[in-house]
Amino acid sequence: MPTPSISFEFFPPKSLEASFRLWDCVSTLAPLAPEWVSVTYGAGGTTRELTREAVATLGKQFDLRVAGHLTCVDASREETMEVARGFRAAGVTDIVALRGDAPKGSDRFEPHPEGFNNSLELIAALAADDFNVRVGCYPDTHPEAAGADADIAWLKRKIDAGASEAISQFFFDAETFLRFRDRCAAEGIDAPIVPGILPIENWKGVSKFAAACGTTIPDDLAAAFEVAVRDGREDLLAIAQAAELADTLVSEGVEHLHFYTLNKPELTRDVCAALGIAPRSALSRVA
Ligand code: FAD
Repeated sequence: MPTPSISFEFFPPKSLEASFRLWDCVSTLAPLAPEWVSVTYGAGGTTRELTREAVATLGKQFDLRVAGHLTCVDASREETMEVARGFRAAGVTDIVALRGDAPKGSDRFEPHPEGFNNSLELIAALAADDFNVRVGCYPDTHPEAAGADADIAWLKRKIDAGASEAISQFFFDAETFLRFRDRCAAEGIDAPIVPGILPIENWKGVSKFAAACGTTIPDDLAAAFEVAVRDGREDLLAIAQAAELADTLVSEGVEHLHFYTLNKPELTRDVCAALGIAPRSALSRVA
């Protein structure tokens, strides 16, 4: 079976201790030679500066292609594009463009009076400014979508607005992703649909997060994790589950896997090892 190419998502650190953890995480995973890595943008735009600093530092210190995430939340168009220009000044021309969620204290996305009204407007502005734009997509259907078909129709509009690729929300059932990929192709979406893989570090936390994102948890997975948590072998099951999911996707022609690392490298490293992706050099940090 072919070895897939990979990418990793990190989040920006908010404390010195978190900075060391991110450094350790990237140092562990960079030798796996990801095609690119990305740094998220805090909910409500709360990590604007931190994301900008993190993409600049990772780009400079590690031999990695870095993408910055950017959302429409709580900022004018000018402020949002200023962040994008900051990415470019740091040598970063890849952006994962998102509408974003409601800021804390509010339950739905409200555009800033002078901001982008939706993801389409942000994507179009970034593409017009020569950024390589990736977007999010939702194999289990976004909770705010009118339905699965409407969700895919919206994704098509995001690609038509200038996105080059879609990265999926995490999911647990390979069939869910494969059916989604087929439906996207049938609707004329020819951009790559990349599966987002979340190795399950903490079952309780992930199941809560999944419920909020609309990600379906198969009954047998929930039952297996309950037993694994009880027996203290959560990590073993997490590696087996993510490796099997990834392996099935690759056997169905998926060429690239995007890992949500949550800044913890061990599970992602072990899942990659199970897929035959081994470190290519002892040290990939730029001296
Ligand atoms: P959109 O795709 O624009 O909208 C979400 C759904 O709502 C659509 O799929 C569509 O069905 C529906 N919809 C929205 N507007 C319309 C409309 N006008 N007409 C019809 N349907 C509509 N959040 C962060 O805060 N920071 C991050 O760094 C971040 N990174 C992410 C990375 C990935 C790969 C993914 C998948 C998600 C990420 N998120 C992040 C979460 C994301 O912000 C939320 O999922 C948000 O609710 C949707 O953002 P979006 O750009 O995918 O929205």
